[in-house]
Amino acid sequence: MTPGLLAGRPRRTLASPTAILEGVGLHSGADASVRVLPTPPGAGRLFRDPEAGQEFPAVASNAEESARCTIVRGGPAAVQTVEHLLSALAALGVDDCVIETRGGELPAADGSAAPFVALLQAAGLRDQPDTAPVEGLTPARACLVAGEGGAVLIALPAPHFQATVVLDYPDHPWIGTQAVAFDAAVDDYVRDVAPARTFGFARELDWLRARGLALGASHDNALALGEDGYLGARRFPDELARHKLLDLIGDLSLAGAPLRAHVIAVKPSHALNVRLARMLTGELP
Ligand SMILES: [Zn+2]
Repeated sequence: MTPGLLAGRPRRTLASPTAILEGVGLHSGADASVRVLPTPPGAGRLFRDPEAGQEFPAVASNAEESARCTIVRGGPAAVQTVEHLLSALAALGVDDCVIETRGGELPAADGSAAPFVALLQAAGLRDQPDTAPVEGLTPARACLVAGEGGAVLIALPAPHFQATVVLDYPDHPWIGTQAVAFDAAVDDYVRDVAPARTFGFARELDWLRARGLALGASHDNALALGEDGYLGARRFPDELARHKLLDLIGDLSLAGAPLRAHVIAVKPSHALNVRLARMLTGELP
């Protein structure tokens, strides 16, 4: 069970500021750091860039539909690769906090959400005093977004959050299809989703770097995929699909509330995830 993703639970913040997590930005390759601080009830999740003097909420209307990571922008300040920390915050049910970042990108850590879960758990979680239970967000109807190559995301009204994520590389010599199903009332995010790492094709790395992406990627923060198989040990046989689920949970948390929805995600991407979050909040028709 993953209580943080269920509506009707107490509103929550942290018991104390987290430690500072430092590392390299996956795409920028630059030094990056983050810490998360408690806030009063109702603040929501806010990014704070102390160098730019900006504070802006982690909500769908501030997110960009970008290809390789999720970017949240507030005025001149922007933070990229926010999805893994947002996923950990959502799964632990942290509704109110300040995410203080330096370097314009969150640290890649090990490419998964597990280090962020550990960071938050070490600081402790605290129920907000005198607040109503967290309300869920139910799609008013079936919401559908579609992208290239058969990518499609559908959110259907449901009693609580469930997801079915399908990865499909029909022309790839060895990946083929991977699928994972998740039910927040049954399945344990911390054990079964958070440790799944981001991944990339080794043959794409030069192409990405030429475009200023993946400059910080390494075997320490991504599962590399070669021509004939994995270029490292996997944490789960279906680690790729589990990571796409991790990303989906983080991106959809930009909708601002636990979803009472079953999300079917075939070939999801950050751009489509963010678009679906926008549709769920009513920002997009
Ligand atoms: Zn990811």
